[in-house]
Amino acid sequence: MKNVLAALHAATAAAIAALAAFGAAAQTQADNEPMPLDTLLRTFNWDFDNTEVTTQKIGDGLYVFFGVGGNIAASVGDQGTLIVDNMFPQMIPKVEAAIRSVGGDGVDFAINTHWHFDHADGNLALGPAGTWIVAQRNSAARMASDNLLNMVRFQYRQPAYPAAARPAVVFDDRLRFQFNGGEIDMVHVGPAHTAGDAVVIFREHNAAHFGDVFNNAGYPYIDVDNGGDVDGMIAFCQAILDEVGEAGVIIPGHGPVTDGKALAAYIDMLKTVRERVAAQMAAGKPLMEVVASRPTADFDSAIGPELQSLGFVDRVYTSLKRKADQAAD
Ligand SMILES: [Zn+2]
Repeated sequence: MKNVLAALHAATAAAIAALAAFGAAAQTQADNEPMPLDTLLRTFNWDFDNTEVTTQKIGDGLYVFFGVGGNIAASVGDQGTLIVDNMFPQMIPKVEAAIRSVGGDGVDFAINTHWHFDHADGNLALGPAGTWIVAQRNSAARMASDNLLNMVRFQYRQPAYPAAARPAVVFDDRLRFQFNGGEIDMVHVGPAHTAGDAVVIFREHNAAHFGDVFNNAGYPYIDVDNGGDVDGMIAFCQAILDEVGEAGVIIPGHGPVTDGKALAAYIDMLKTVRERVAAQMAAGKPLMEVVASRPTADFDSAIGPELQSLGFVDRVYTSLKRKADQAAD
């Protein structure tokens, strides 16, 4: 750490403190035990008991629910209720109350944008109760085994789901629902946030739920250790932007609903940081030097927080390094 900090003499004290914290976490991470879920929830300030589910209407029959974990999109109509992502089992009674408040009753279909706990653990309540669960094939496979999530500063071992909580329907690239009078498309482009992401497009509303392929609450997390890929994340976002355009309604995995313009700006940020990291790697710089150079600095005030950006840069570097190593084999 000393050399890195010396190289940072021009940086702010806050940046140095953040890098020291990051470096300490990164250096000891291999020895770190994965956090139990309740510790992780406290770290993220996620509180099942004291968080209510709030509702935003996107258009007739389409709603977004905010609570603990990933945002939920819900199609509620004559044929029933289809939701995209489902938070945690502890939140399901509150989600079902929110569905009732907009005229629905129960959950017929639950689509998982991916297998991460904060988007899919609700499967544990919904599946055994009779909801049909749908996911991209690679995410469905992940749910059948224990997986370690390396979030750089934290680790979490997500346990396998029992069969009743796993998808009954899987797809590879695309799957269309004709439901409640509209067309709802599940689209998988390739590895991005994980290896099994699906973006769900509600065609009649030109609205897309991105899961964690698009984060609107800080820098994105790329789960590189489980097949995530920065170039894939850029390509995935661009492919969906090409389908919905700048007027599209963009429902992020986390954070407020936004539009295609914000998605375009996010793609520019990803490309810019990716190029800055790649240029330093081409010059032979090691990970900690690249992180210390703060390649996100001019985005931090808009996206922040800064400490999260360090983990993001770590994952971008690791994604590009893996690709370079594979090419060299
Ligand atoms: Zn995720």
